[in-house]
Amino acid sequence: MEWNKEAIERHEQMPIPPSVSPLARKQAEKIARKKGLSQVTVTEVEEAEEAYATYFGREKAQEMKNLLEGKEPVPQMVEELFFDASEKLYDIKVCPVKYGSQRKEVADGITEIFRGVQEIFEKEQIEETIAELSRAPLSQQSRFTVVIAGCSNCCEPPFFKDLGVVGQHVPRVTNADCLQCNKCKRVCYEDAITLTENGPSINRERCINCEFCAKSCPNEKIIIEKRGYKVIAGGRDYRHPAVAVRVKAFTGQEGVLTTVKKIVTLLKKGNEGDTLKSLIEKYGIDMLQ
Ligand code: SF4
Ligand code: SF4
Repeated sequence: MEWNKEAIERHEQMPIPPSVSPLARKQAEKIARKKGLSQVTVTEVEEAEEAYATYFGREKAQEMKNLLEGKEPVPQMVEELFFDASEKLYDIKVCPVKYGSQRKEVADGITEIFRGVQEIFEKEQIEETIAELSRAPLSQQSRFTVVIAGCSNCCEPPFFKDLGVVGQHVPRVTNADCLQCNKCKRVCYEDAITLTENGPSINRERCINCEFCAKSCPNEKIIIEKRGYKVIAGGRDYRHPAVAVRVKAFTGQEGVLTTVKKIVTLLKKGNEGDTLKSLIEKYGIDMLQ
């Protein structure tokens, strides 16, 4: 699709992460196609920008804008969360929280869990246990894999890993005025929000606690009432892929680390050829709760 000069320039200034930039072009083209246009103009780029601002949340969109304009505050990287697994028999991957994609309180919580998991693994010498369990010569496929995701958008997917920790941000409707701007409804990809003249109501059955609605609401009509984590375990990649099963639907940092200690105990019960998945099947998921 054609782009006019102003649209190209505007796209280059969009306050979005560099990894999303080429996709934002396609988003603008999608908007143009929907309008029956054969050329992207600055209007479609602005509409795409607005969509991303709602998606990332006002606070982070503003920080990214500041970054482009050389102002403060900008997204803060959390260098500690970049884990080098090259010489390890376990791996801990953290979602874009490490690039500063989430609020400080979320990043702090994830950092505490990251530290706690590492501390337990090192204290319990989990690498020796993993080595004992591996039937094949040790390789990256032998690694015990962990993903810690800041929210249920799961930009770093935890579902095929031995252990997944997923931030949960439970929204609540407040007494503030609703501006009827529709932003919360637009950004709720679970269709969990109904908007009436009195404001939004949230269907708890559908809601996955992603926080998008609260991040997009300009008037704190929706806020986050409590933050915690979902814990899943027993997923596998490689030869026999399996989806992790739920251990805890909602817990705090202590609850996560208690499960990690129980996982280590369970792994130590295993024999060569066992995985966390096979041990959960043998001893039951209750062992980890
Ligand atoms: S937190 Fe729930 S209601 Fe809000 S956007 Fe996410 S899924 Fe929808
Ligand atoms: S709850 Fe917030 S985001 Fe949703 S329509 Fe009202 S003011 Fe807009």
